Amino acid sequence: MRFAWNEENRLGCEVTDSWAGISNELRREVGESNHKSWIEPLECLAIKEGVAHFRAPSRFVGDWVKRNYHDQILTLIRNSGTDVTRLDFVVSGAVAARPKAEAARAPVSGDDVLQGTVLDPKLNFDNFVVGKPNELAHAAARRVAEGGAVTFNPLFLYGGVGLGKTHLMQAIAWELTEKRPDLQVLYLSAEKFMYRFVQALRDREIMDFKNIFRSVDVLMVDDVQFIAGKDSTQEEFFHTFNALVDQNKQIVISADRAPGEIKDLEARISSRMQCGLVVDLHPTNYELRLGILQRKAAHFAQSYGSVTISDGIFEFLAHRISNNVRVLEGALQRLFAFSSLIGQEITMDMVQDCLSDILRTSERRVTVEEIQRKVAEHFNIRLSDMLGPKRTRTIARPRQIAMYLSKELTSRSLPEIGRRFGGRDHTTILHGVRKVEEMRAADSQLNEDIELLRRLLEN
Ligand code: ADP
Ligand code: MG
Repeated sequence: MRFAWNEENRLGCEVTDSWAGISNELRREVGESNHKSWIEPLECLAIKEGVAHFRAPSRFVGDWVKRNYHDQILTLIRNSGTDVTRLDFVVSGAVAARPKAEAARAPVSGDDVLQGTVLDPKLNFDNFVVGKPNELAHAAARRVAEGGAVTFNPLFLYGGVGLGKTHLMQAIAWELTEKRPDLQVLYLSAEKFMYRFVQALRDREIMDFKNIFRSVDVLMVDDVQFIAGKDSTQEEFFHTFNALVDQNKQIVISADRAPGEIKDLEARISSRMQCGLVVDLHPTNYELRLGILQRKAAHFAQSYGSVTISDGIFEFLAHRISNNVRVLEGALQRLFAFSSLIGQEITMDMVQDCLSDILRTSERRVTVEEIQRKVAEHFNIRLSDMLGPKRTRTIARPRQIAMYLSKELTSRSLPEIGRRFGGRDHTTILHGVRKVEEMRAADSQLNEDIELLRRLLEN
């Protein structure tokens, strides 16, 4: 409980003094932990003309108090002898490290409600680079972010680490608060969900816990694989989930794999998860990585000043640093820092030096031999045919696809690849690669085959 010294209004000062007593009475009525979560963060500013003015740390807390404790507070103030007809809440400037307008509209993260942190303003749609591997997930996220009628529930986003799940979820939260300020949006990690649940159990406040989670309009739970195997948390999550779906409230879930593949996730939960729209973020491809690098470079340039990094280096990085966008970002950031320190253009030697650790660990482990094996298997041909001289279409096509993937996924040169394809000339490999590139543009079935193979090989 905090007091506000209100110079201009002596009455206000007395009232805020008596708020201490009122707050204490409330503690008895609502319980220690509720008091700590909802009443203590309030600052009583003044009571003027029948209105009691409070400052709340976030809009969510203000709304919550209004919705749940309005009458109780009013009665207690009246009992203390002050005439009051309503409560008014302003949101404190405490979250205004960011621009004011933004802070006022900041979506409420679970952390915000419970601990006082806010969502990352950088994780918005503007900063999200769209490419083939994430276009579906992006489109689905956009749809949910419109805040219109709930069309699929839940939206289940999954994919490997660093592929943009959290980014998309937070982007939805930001966009929704802008477009639909009337909606209560709650974003939190599954870990946090569990933590709060356990705390509520311990403090015997499970009803309050249920109320909080069932009163939101949009619930987003990140990394839900975390609660797999944690039986009572899963159970509670399942009930929360059902209660919200029944009220036609939007739910967005993320996980590191598809619902059916999460070990120790109860079958009934995983099947509920699949009732909505399940979309995956595929591993990044070369084009997406290049796009992200260029976008981030433009962004970094704002803080590091002019730094020259040639296209060739971007291409090298996009080629050599695989899937995880976080790693890609880290590499670029390091290059910028390095370049601005030494004040000269980044050369390939410097890149090798400066990023040697990253380049080493993201060395692609997939080999030409593995690619040949997988492709042969996929198209149901013999490995010996893949390497042999036969030129019938059913053999030559898979062979060219294997050549193409070898070029894309390994750092082998064309002559090296040629040697591994039964001693073929590098021009034959080049021809194969070009041919597949051409066909990909026109043949969507082929495209799908290749993407599938690529994912099999890269994982
Ligand atoms: P995940 O939650 O899937 O592990 P994140 O959403 O945390 O991944 O993304 C990791 C980092 O990569 C973040 O800094 C995020 O902004 C960035 N990132 C991921 N995908 C993209 C993208 N398509 N465009 C721009 N940045 C991205
Ligand atoms: Mg994440």
